[in-house]
Amino acid sequence: MDLHNGSMYWPTTYRAPLRKKPFKKADCYDAVIVGGGMSGALTALSLVDRGLQIAILDKRRFATGSTSANTGLLQYSNDIMLHELIEQIGQIDAVSFYQSCMKAMKQLKKVADRLPVDPHFICRESIYFASDEDDAERIEKEYHTLSKYGFPCTYWDRDALLTNAGIDRPCAIVTFGDAEVNPYIFANGIFDLAETMGAHLFEFTEMLDVKESGGKLTVSTAAGEMRTKNIIFTTGYESLPIGKRIGADINRSYVIVTEPLNELPAWYKDALIWETKRPYLYMRTTADKRIIIGGLDENSGDVEISEELIWQRGNELRRNFNEVFPHLDIEIEYAYCATFGESIDNLPFIGEHPTKKNHFYLLGYGGNGTVYSILGAEILADQLCGIEHPASHIVQLARIDGTGQNKMIL
Ligand SMILES: Cc1cc2nc3c(=O)[nH]c(=O)nc-3n(C[C@H](O)[C@H](O)[C@H](O)COP(=O)(O)OP(=O)(O)OC[C@H]3O[C@@H](n4cnc5c(N)ncnc54)[C@H](O)[C@@H]3O)c2cc1C
Repeated sequence: MDLHNGSMYWPTTYRAPLRKKPFKKADCYDAVIVGGGMSGALTALSLVDRGLQIAILDKRRFATGSTSANTGLLQYSNDIMLHELIEQIGQIDAVSFYQSCMKAMKQLKKVADRLPVDPHFICRESIYFASDEDDAERIEKEYHTLSKYGFPCTYWDRDALLTNAGIDRPCAIVTFGDAEVNPYIFANGIFDLAETMGAHLFEFTEMLDVKESGGKLTVSTAAGEMRTKNIIFTTGYESLPIGKRIGADINRSYVIVTEPLNELPAWYKDALIWETKRPYLYMRTTADKRIIIGGLDENSGDVEISEELIWQRGNELRRNFNEVFPHLDIEIEYAYCATFGESIDNLPFIGEHPTKKNHFYLLGYGGNGTVYSILGAEILADQLCGIEHPASHIVQLARIDGTGQNKMIL
C-alpha cells in the first residue's frame, strides 16, 4: 500500500541513520511494537520510561510512513467539537477525553524538550473559523462549551477576526496551548532517545505472523523470530497484520508546501488555522518561512493517483488558500497526497484486543493523530503495568460506534 505519493517536504529536513540491530533469537521482550511511525516511537519511549525491555520493527525506514506526511499541527481540539462529542458519548466521557488531549499537549512538549535533536516544537495558538454563516452558531456554541469546562480559548467576531488575522469570515474560536512540530525530526529524535535507553530498533523488518505458546508470543518476521510477552500494533492506516478493522474509513488527503517567503506576511502569531467546513482547509507556517496547506480529503477509490492529479489538487488548495488570504502570493514547491484514516465515531482505537490476550493496538485515526499517539502510548504503558487509565474505556477497541451499531476491531 502507498501511504503517500508526490514530493515530500519533511524528509528533506533531516538525515536519519540506518537502524537495524542484528537479530538475537534468545531475546524475550516485554513488548514488541510493530510499526515505526509516530505512534510506535511514542509508545517505545513510554515503555522504556517504565523500565520495560522492548523491540520495535518496521518494514520500511522509521518515520517514513504517514508520519512523514503529517503536517505537524498539534491541538487539544478535535475534528469532533466538544459539544458534539458530549451529544455522542455523554458529558463525563467527552470532557474527560478533551482533558486527556489537553494533557497530551503538555506531554508532547515534555518529550520535545528531552530530544537530542531540535524538532521545531513551538507553542502556538489555533484559529478555528466558521467557514460560513451556517457554522457561526456552532462556533459560538463550542466556545461556550469549551469555556464552561475550563479549556483555554477566546471568541472573535467578524471584526476581531478580520482585524487580528486578516480573515473575512463570520467568527472564530482561538484556542491556547497548541503547538507546531516537524513530525519527521520529532519521531526520529524519539527513536534515538529510546535506543539510548535500551530499546532495540529494527528497520526493514516486516512482521508476518504471531503465535502463542505457554503464555509467550513468538513473532515471525522476514528476518527471523522474536519472543515477547506482549505485541503492540502501531501500524497506522495499513491493513492490520492481525485482526480486522471495522469502524474506520481509509481515504486520501492532499498537502502543498510553498517555497520560503522572503517576508512572512502579517500572519497572526504564526497561528495554526483551520475551519468548520468538511473536508476542512488547514494551514500553518514553518521555521524556514514556508506555508503548509492541507485539505481536499476524498474517497481513495474515486480517482486514480497520478503526478498530474497531485498538482491539479495542489493548485486547487492554493486557490482555496487565496480565498482566505487573497493578498498572499505563494509558489508551490512540494505537493503530495497521502492515505488518511478516520474512525466512524471520530475517536482513536487504543487498547487490548477483546479476545486475543496480550495483543494491543494503537491506531490514532483522525486529524489529531499525534495527540492520539501520545495518549495511546500512555494508556498502553499503563495497561502493561496493570494500571487503569481514566480514558481507556472511551477509546477501547470493542466499543459501539456513533450509530450504535458496530464493534470497531475484531
Ligand atoms: C496528509 C496528512 C496530514 C496530517 N496532518 C496531521 C497533523 O497536522 N497533526 C496530527 O496530529 N496528525 C496529522 N496527521 C495524522 C498523522 O500523520 C498520523 O496520526 C500519524 O502519522 C500516524 O502515525 P502512525 O505511527 O500510526 O502511522 P505511520 O507513520 O504510518 O507508521 C506505521 C508504520 O507501520 C509500518 N507497518 C505496517 N504494517 C507493518 C508490518 N506488518 N510489519 C512491519 N511494519 C509495518 C509501516 O511501514 C509504517 O511505517 C496527518 C496525516 C496525513 C496523511
